[in-house]
Amino acid sequence: MAASNSVIVLGAGLAGCAAALSARAQGAAVTVYDPARAARHRVCGEFLSPEVRSSLEQLGAWSEAEACRPALMHSMRVYFGRRVCTDRLPEPAIGLSRLRLDHLLRDAAATRGARFVAERSQPSPGCVLATGRQTGVAPGDRLFGFKAHFSGPPGDAVELYFGDRFYIGVNPVEDGFTNVCGLAPESLLRTIHFSYDALLALNPALAERTRPLTRAMHWLSTGPLVYGRRRQPRGVYPAGDAFSFIDPFTGAGMLNALETGRMAGWAAATGQTPEAYGSAVMGRLRRPLLVAQVLRTAIAMGAATHLAPWIPGRWLFALTRPSA
Ligand SMILES: Cc1cc2nc3c(=O)[nH]c(=O)nc-3n(C[C@H](O)[C@H](O)[C@H](O)COP(=O)(O)OP(=O)(O)OC[C@H]3O[C@@H](n4cnc5c(N)ncnc54)[C@H](O)[C@@H]3O)c2cc1C
Repeated sequence: MAASNSVIVLGAGLAGCAAALSARAQGAAVTVYDPARAARHRVCGEFLSPEVRSSLEQLGAWSEAEACRPALMHSMRVYFGRRVCTDRLPEPAIGLSRLRLDHLLRDAAATRGARFVAERSQPSPGCVLATGRQTGVAPGDRLFGFKAHFSGPPGDAVELYFGDRFYIGVNPVEDGFTNVCGLAPESLLRTIHFSYDALLALNPALAERTRPLTRAMHWLSTGPLVYGRRRQPRGVYPAGDAFSFIDPFTGAGMLNALETGRMAGWAAATGQTPEAYGSAVMGRLRRPLLVAQVLRTAIAMGAATHLAPWIPGRWLFALTRPSA
């Protein structure tokens, strides 16, 4: 298919930059709108699923990512209260801060000719909509995300600690830092006056894990978080969280953002219809979104601790990746 003359992208996060790179590869003129002038720290676990390597290779940005010397993780440890399940990952996962990753992708897109405009914009027909998660009112007990980097002895695994209605991920990133990132409901955060340091102390295994670490930045927080597919205007190519926000414990959000961004940029540049693009994306994401929803319900009901011994981590990991 011939490339269309120009592609407008809203959002310069992972999905938006992936779309820009992919549309540029098809020869389209690309303009990316984002009110943020530069990459910044974001609330994110910074755990990149192993398949991200091939995604970045396809976008022509893997060598830039490798040059940041990301941390590698070979196994996952999941703590349910006192119970711990350990599994080897099928391939090493990657720990890289969003500051670095977003920066290198913006840089790669700009170097390859995408034009960046530091403005918020409104969706227009044919644009790639990569504006991130839905914001606004969330029903019930609102969920908030938080993260900070710590210095101190780094681990070589991704660790997930499930507590009563909250969970926190701990994993290494570049330069020897450890990212600590989690999710908790407002009702719980109120009881500890929104002190994330106090939250770490609520889980004995987590308290022990973080004792030798020193916080290297202020806590960042975001929310309320709203899961699932977003309703978007017709005639656009939604990508990343703007298509659907998957639960962070899957560690698949960034992979999905890069993959759907790449698909959206290609579809917009080659004139594929938004409907055909939407069906192709749903074909890949239907299963992980469904599995994540079931697990989220189990966690909210406090059933995760009972189910944990029966669900192998490898199986869980595989079921929450996009279908090929
Ligand atoms: C607590 C938490 C932990 C997570 N941990 C992980 C993890 O460990 N691993 C993982 O893979 N995923 C994780 N995720 C998910 C991951 O962060 C997201 O899936 C990913 O950031 C989605 O990228 P995106 O490009 O779609 O959106 P974003 O990164 O949110 O980018 C959207 C961009 O759009 C811009 N924008 C918004 N509105 C407009 C507008 N009108 N015009 C122009 N620009 C606009 C914004 O400024 C922003 O730069 C986590 C998420 C949370 C909340």
